[in-house]
Amino acid sequence: DPRIDGIQSRIRVVPNFPKPGIMFQDITTVLLDPRAFKDTIDLFVERYKSKNITVVAGIEARGFIFGPPIALAIGAKFVPLRKPKKLPGKVIREEYDLEYGSDCLEMHVGAVEPEERALVVDDLIATGGTLCAAMNLLERAGAEVVECACVIEIPDLKGRDRLNGKPLFVLVESQ
Ligand code: 5GP
Repeated sequence: DPRIDGIQSRIRVVPNFPKPGIMFQDITTVLLDPRAFKDTIDLFVERYKSKNITVVAGIEARGFIFGPPIALAIGAKFVPLRKPKKLPGKVIREEYDLEYGSDCLEMHVGAVEPEERALVVDDLIATGGTLCAAMNLLERAGAEVVECACVIEIPDLKGRDRLNGKPLFVLVESQ
């Protein structure tokens, strides 16, 4: 698809951020180009509009940028998966390991009902730990995770292999 090159060209790679040795994939520069931003959303919408998705779950923080416009366009609800202690209601939580230490995602109880069909959205998959935790939250609520969708994959980190066979759809691979 010719739109992919346009999106790829707008991703800014920042060496040594936030730590030495990391090549940070910055998607804020995609958002500065209305064409590239719209193409990004359109590519996801085209893929998911006829898949009977009832809930788009977006991962804090950059899943909150791409998830809601996809949800609106396909007629699904949007559910934020948040870092600890941000959601005011009763939550379920999933902890996951990082390179150093651990992190956690929370989801409101009652936001997702059993048998719902979920799409998980984030900007990027690295090790896959974050998407794995997100899928666990949705499955604990009784939803079926149809697919995970990210703008960028870092293939070297093999995060795809950690998703327990769930399909992952990405637009570009990191350079
Ligand atoms: P994982 O759990 O797959 O190792 O890491 C993915 C999570 O870390 C995502 O929520 C993503 O937003 C964030 N992340 C890790 N590296 C990068 C990066 O280079 N660029 C961006 N935009 N996000 C990153």
